[in-house]
Amino acid sequence: MGYVDEVLEKVRTKNAAEPEFLQAVEEVLDSLRPVIDANEELYRKEAILERLTEPDRQVMFRVPWVDDKGQVQVNRGFRVQFNNAIGPYKGGLRLHPSVNLGIIKFLGFEQVFKNSLTSLPIGGGKGGSDFDPKGKSDREIMAFCQSFMTELYKYIGADTDVPAGDIGTGAREIGYMFGQYKRLTNLYEGVLTGKGLTYGGSLARTEATGYGLLYLTEELMKCHGESMEGKTVCVSGAGNVAIYAIQKAQQLGAKPVTCSDSTGWIYDPEGIDVALLKEVKEVKRARLTEYAAARPSAQYHEKKNGEHGVWSIKCDIALPCATQNELDIEDAKMLVANGVKAVCEGANMPTTLDATKYLQANGVWFVGGKAANAGGVATSALEMSQNSERLSWTFEEVDAKLKTIMVNIYHNIDDAAKRYGKEGDYVAGANIAGFEKVVNAMLAQGVC
Ligand code: NDP
Repeated sequence: MGYVDEVLEKVRTKNAAEPEFLQAVEEVLDSLRPVIDANEELYRKEAILERLTEPDRQVMFRVPWVDDKGQVQVNRGFRVQFNNAIGPYKGGLRLHPSVNLGIIKFLGFEQVFKNSLTSLPIGGGKGGSDFDPKGKSDREIMAFCQSFMTELYKYIGADTDVPAGDIGTGAREIGYMFGQYKRLTNLYEGVLTGKGLTYGGSLARTEATGYGLLYLTEELMKCHGESMEGKTVCVSGAGNVAIYAIQKAQQLGAKPVTCSDSTGWIYDPEGIDVALLKEVKEVKRARLTEYAAARPSAQYHEKKNGEHGVWSIKCDIALPCATQNELDIEDAKMLVANGVKAVCEGANMPTTLDATKYLQANGVWFVGGKAANAGGVATSALEMSQNSERLSWTFEEVDAKLKTIMVNIYHNIDDAAKRYGKEGDYVAGANIAGFEKVVNAMLAQGVC
């Protein structure tokens, strides 16, 4: 049996109750086969894959807090510190009822490769809790965040592990956690990213994931002899990633014509009005029906199961920016039939595996989220740099660095795929490029 299959079998036995983690490990190791096979003897002797698939450390803890009725509630907190070969652990904190150890491990494992791709010195980790922030008062959120940090602070630090936001953890939650860290440690340091601008946050962090997605997409198009100018773009989602992806696409001369939320989607043949979309989603926190009501050119469609939604609109470029598994095989067939050229993932894992394979098999340039949405974490790492320097860079400085990082990511994944005879397979290229840097560092640091 080859080394990859040996390790996969061990991982399955040891982590049988964690399907998401197993899926992530299988997908990554499978695409790394050419690299592993070329160095099988060394990697087996050094147990590189066993070390890479076993987190450095995983912490689980009780989070007790008091709700507005005086009732004590108990949640479970997690921090998985996966790999710090190339820098302090870095990855978000997810607050959602679906959170369990397997999900945090899957996200932490993926984060190792994504962070490596940014070319910045950040290792991989992830954390969170099964706490549901929806419907909670500000006081309840603060009580939870303070209790969560009262345990978490023992394991993190500006040079050890720097958590960030994720689903359910926005600026408000980061603020409460930062305040509690400061009280407990008496340290004012960049221990969390996604902070407010008045206390160490970075300009351009809000825009970073969406803008970064477009910088990478623009480079991809350029390298295939195309430009963004005049291209029709379909975007899903209407949250942070989608809004700034739409904005940057327009700045680059393309025409984004769709967006969606969890209840419906918009087709606006005149092009999405970003100012109106921001007003509806960021200010009023309303449904997209309000966008349609204010914009005569927009058509609103209620979301229906089994329908293709935004992916039924003919486009040159598709950017899924909402949620996991939102673009399935039927959507992929529709996109290909309509002549799509490129699909780049703004969200994490929005395209199902069979849809990805179908798109690739039909000549669509497909870049997965690990590379395409890395602008978010890259800019978080730039926030760390600014905190260490005790300086704040201008929007233009951060944005220029972000652009350089995304262009480099595209070339790194493209080169890595070519080196292993997988030209145009940017999914494999991303895994290979991310893996090589981490493994070289691990080998140099000895058995640890
Ligand atoms: P937000 O919560 O800001 O936005 C998500 C958007 O997707 C919302 O408009 C939401 O609708 C919509 N949505 C949710 N479920 C569905 C669905 N089933 N169908 C259609 N639309 C849906 O999240 P972000 O924009 O920050 O994140 C989006 C994705 O990008 C996630 O996968 C996230 O992990 C990933 N990501 C985000 C980064 C960041 O920096 N923000 C960095 C890297 C990855 P509604 O308005 O109704 O809630």
